[in-house]
Amino acid sequence: MSKVITECIRCGTCCKKGGPSFHIEDKMLIEKGIILSKYLYTIRDGELSYDNVKESILPAASDIIKIKGQKDSWTCIFFNEKENECTIYDNRPLECRALKCWDTLEIEKIYFKNRLTRKDLISTIEELWGLVEDHQKRCSYIKLKLFIDALNKDKKDETLKGILDIIEYDARIRELVVQNGGLDPEMTDFLFGRPITETIKMYGFKIIKQDNNYRLIPIT
Ligand code: SF4
Repeated sequence: MSKVITECIRCGTCCKKGGPSFHIEDKMLIEKGIILSKYLYTIRDGELSYDNVKESILPAASDIIKIKGQKDSWTCIFFNEKENECTIYDNRPLECRALKCWDTLEIEKIYFKNRLTRKDLISTIEELWGLVEDHQKRCSYIKLKLFIDALNKDKKDETLKGILDIIEYDARIRELVVQNGGLDPEMTDFLFGRPITETIKMYGFKIIKQDNNYRLIPIT
């Protein structure tokens, strides 16, 4: 007979399904340097992503800041596979504390509340925040989706150019902050979200770069 679970047995199953999203209550973990921003990535406003609670792919309603996965897997970067344990257990974020796999009521209550955004964390660093805001304006997922939806309508060349301009700017700003600004390359997925060259697959396309030019190819 299988045993009914009523408390966390630290099996690590939830940690292998992906890291948590951050809430305002977690802000001090980042501010105090307990969790470094190079271990985070941002799902940007309007970006298509898998919603664990609604169990479907939906556009994000705001920034969602998440802990990165380990190389080539969804397993949270803070999960130690060998020891089967969380390496920041005493400082684990709110969602990890609220998630009880035998009863999801608590996580459902907090899941959409007080989501932490990049603005909460870096808007006081003027120069950096200016770059993030400018990138968000030029490369918003809402704008990208409008272009993608218009691809099979009139002005195809103009629409395609709009998409490629977004992709090029998104890639260029990452290079610039690293090469000219001396920023850790691992910070870029937090500052500017995941590269659009990767997330574009959610919209049914892939990108090929040839001689510094980008090409948009439908995924068949
Ligand atoms: S922070 Fe810790 S408890 Fe939370 S998903 Fe990562 S490894 Fe698991």
